[in-house]
Amino acid sequence: MATRAANAFYTRRQFAPVKVARNRIIREVVGLRPYRPDGFVVDAARFRNKLLIHNYGHGGGGVTLSWGTASLAVDLVRDFLIAHKSRRPTRFAVLGCGVSGLSTARLLQRRFQNGPGTVTIYAKDLPPDTTSNIAGAWWSPTSVYENATTRFTEQFRQACRISNREFQLLVGAEYGVRWIDTFELMRHEASIGRELAGGNHLYPQIEIHRDPENYFGFPFVRQYMSMLIEPSIYLSALLRDFYIAGGRVVMKEFRRREEIARLREPVIFNCTGLGSRELFRDEQLIPVRGQLEVLLPQPEIDYCYLSSGYMFPRRDGIVLGGTWDHDDWSLTPDPEQATGILEAHMEIMKGLKSV
Ligand SMILES: Cc1cc2nc3c(=O)[nH]c(=O)nc-3n(C[C@H](O)[C@H](O)[C@H](O)COP(=O)(O)OP(=O)(O)OC[C@H]3O[C@@H](n4cnc5c(N)ncnc54)[C@H](O)[C@@H]3O)c2cc1C
Repeated sequence: MATRAANAFYTRRQFAPVKVARNRIIREVVGLRPYRPDGFVVDAARFRNKLLIHNYGHGGGGVTLSWGTASLAVDLVRDFLIAHKSRRPTRFAVLGCGVSGLSTARLLQRRFQNGPGTVTIYAKDLPPDTTSNIAGAWWSPTSVYENATTRFTEQFRQACRISNREFQLLVGAEYGVRWIDTFELMRHEASIGRELAGGNHLYPQIEIHRDPENYFGFPFVRQYMSMLIEPSIYLSALLRDFYIAGGRVVMKEFRRREEIARLREPVIFNCTGLGSRELFRDEQLIPVRGQLEVLLPQPEIDYCYLSSGYMFPRRDGIVLGGTWDHDDWSLTPDPEQATGILEAHMEIMKGLKSV
């Protein structure tokens, strides 16, 4: 018992109820996760007389992995310079202004800053009109791949570690990032032993509960701390930082690769998310459609949970989600899915002990 007390901090807590009701819905949103069964692409290639570096295809974990894959992508510039004994470039183009493009652009400014205009973002949509704005956005690299090569596994492991560290440094109201008590609700004991996405070491204070009375009626519950990101605050803050550091944004849609070849920057980062399917003919890249029901905010909710769906209590609303429709391009909310989501969360709330 003495050892247990020294090594672990155990919490017993009460839960304020989430008020799940149709008349509390403030918006319904649908987004398309840019998913590749083989995982994201972070790779460099020669493109005409330019260096083209890809950073796209992050599936359901693009916000989570953003700093990590951006860092791996920016490292490829240095590797290329060494391999080709080339001069250090002074101008970079980033295609895309979602979380991948913004993080890549910021890292380029931090590592290669050479006065205003070092980095230009070219994008057809800016926040708040990107998929990144629709994300949950819980820090967990889930639904990112299903087949992994050794090279990908190593990139994934590094991206998780780098990104987790970077988000920790952004915790606070300014960037809309915070630590939150998280509960995974399970029916089967076998699920408890499963490693958390990216590795258990990324989620402090893991505890297991077998106490349905106190935990939503679920026989097995895994509790831990994770990070929750408010996409609208976070992406605006990144864009602001980018401008302060002298970044330029050009609104432009690329329809053909020839248009990219005409850019004046010698190094180009492709962070176009699902747009890479058409632009770079990556047919492995497919949408995984997700629908969210957002309820009126409840500042008293200080936890999130995951079962077949999830609940994230953000400042801009209580986010209820958990649909994953592969290869579905529809951006229209589906009323049947809305009912399914609401009913699932009402059921979970019935298991809540009154406080
Ligand atoms: C419902 C839902 C819930 C999610 N929840 C989470 C979560 O909890 N945690 C998490 O980590 N992730 C989550 N995700 C996944 C995450 O949102 C994505 O992985 C991430 O947003 C991808 O970012 P991105 O910058 O690569 O793409 P995007 O945000 O789509 O940005 C792409 C950019 O490229 C531009 N572009 C595209 N094509 C062109 C073109 N031809 N010419 C010019 N510009 C172009 C776009 O305009 C945009 O600026 C969720 C996604 C959805 C849909």
